[in-house]
Amino acid sequence: MNRSALVALLMAVAVVAVPLAQKPPAPKSAPKPSAAASKLDALKQEAIAEVESRRQFSQQMVDQIFSYAELGFQEIETNRYLIDILKKNGFAVEEGIAGIPTSFMATWGSGKPVIALGSDIDCIPQASQKPGVAWHDPIIEGAPGHGEGHNSGQAVNITAAIAVKKIMERDHLPGTIRIWPGTAEELVGTKAYYIRAGLFKDVDVALFTHVADQLDVSWGAREGTGLVSVQYSFLGETAHAAGSPWRGRSALDAVELMDVGWNFRREHLRLSQRSHSVIIDGGDQPNVVPRTASVWYYFRETDYPHIKELWATGDTMAKAAAMMAGVELQPTKLLGSAWPQHFNKVVAETTWANIQKVGLPTWSNEDQQLAKAVQKELKNPAADGLRTKLRESLQGPVTENTGGGSDDIGDVSWNVPTVTLRYPSNIPNLPGHNWANAISMATPIAHKGVTAGAKVQAMTILDLVTRPELVEQAWTYFRDVQTKDTKYEPLLRPQDQPAIWLNKGTMDKYRPEMKKYYYDPSRYKTYLEQLGIKYPTVK
Ligand SMILES: [Zn+2]
Repeated sequence: MNRSALVALLMAVAVVAVPLAQKPPAPKSAPKPSAAASKLDALKQEAIAEVESRRQFSQQMVDQIFSYAELGFQEIETNRYLIDILKKNGFAVEEGIAGIPTSFMATWGSGKPVIALGSDIDCIPQASQKPGVAWHDPIIEGAPGHGEGHNSGQAVNITAAIAVKKIMERDHLPGTIRIWPGTAEELVGTKAYYIRAGLFKDVDVALFTHVADQLDVSWGAREGTGLVSVQYSFLGETAHAAGSPWRGRSALDAVELMDVGWNFRREHLRLSQRSHSVIIDGGDQPNVVPRTASVWYYFRETDYPHIKELWATGDTMAKAAAMMAGVELQPTKLLGSAWPQHFNKVVAETTWANIQKVGLPTWSNEDQQLAKAVQKELKNPAADGLRTKLRESLQGPVTENTGGGSDDIGDVSWNVPTVTLRYPSNIPNLPGHNWANAISMATPIAHKGVTAGAKVQAMTILDLVTRPELVEQAWTYFRDVQTKDTKYEPLLRPQDQPAIWLNKGTMDKYRPEMKKYYYDPSRYKTYLEQLGIKYPTVK
């Protein structure tokens, strides 16, 4: 059935239904909800019930991916697991997209609109942590862990998609649902490559979702930055560091000189910038002058021209350091990049209306006890637990951007109308990228947050599928407002390729031990049960 036939049918049904309902006639001033609108409301109620009935399905996904805890570009188990679920649920899956082995594009349905649901899947180095325990207690010391909560977003999208798919199939609603992972988001390593590969070319709306401590959405420029992630490698010459040091040239000297130079320059950079680095190769042993050395920088700024400017300053610093040390600067490697984020007004308003209908989860005393204990452990002055109120109104563009984090969803947001739905699976006021942020992520807090998020996501998909005017309005905002003066230009250079080798060594080191702790839902209802953790475990 095409859309106009459907609308006609719905109106016919509504005309029959009105006398039966025996509602008093609406006052002339208040517009009566149209038949299509009340049918849409009914579909949304159905979607909510479908999501609600899949609480266990969502919980298992959250717990499973938590237990895999894979770093960016090494999401092998996570990738296989998600592809398997999607195939079982009728999605066609293209694997290894954009030259990235742990990325995929899953598709179900046909025709317009094409809605792309994305969420990140990778975790954080050294964030291994027992869920539900309110202090630092790693499952495996030094191992990676979900210290941001990227184990939960796919459950939001997949649960929502399956709920809506059932309704779309029954009612023969046209539309295509895509599901894709934000692979290696902590390295901002893939989404710009998805854009370069043309994966969003026919997409009408991208609904992204990210873990948070609130059920929320916003539109316009978001607080935070875009960035480039650049590796500088230097090549010198070895020599006996005591016997004939004058024969050697130290690549490590160049790394150190670059860092010193950058830290002097820092004083004279814009206040909104953020820049940080780690030395990934500092030589072999002290008695051998280091032939190779590498330093890895993140250069963050609030808009494209300033990101480019900061990057150029870094390149100059590296060349100058190489000259001072008498070594060679190798061709630089771009390991990741991200545009600053800008979210679509129309899609955000649509999502916000659904957020208000769903509301925050009902937290138990145990949930609040855990949250407050973690906040206290982290020395938060107000250990006031989980949020119990939504924001009063939809957040618009940030007026003064003082910088902050980045997400390569920014690149998608400058190519198709996009929003990020944030859902409350984490505890407020934690440091981020830290073991503490993993504590709630395989507990009822995360599970309830995901179910709330999935309800909103399902309702928004239904809005977009049944109200084609929304998609048109979203593109009007995208064309006439967002991209009127700012056009997307890739930060990727033609020679850049996804940095798929990153984190392999770390995962090879920890994976054998981590395997012993993979969640087995055939034996345990929850991961907490499998680990034998009393919920909550607090001092
Ligand atoms: Zn993230």
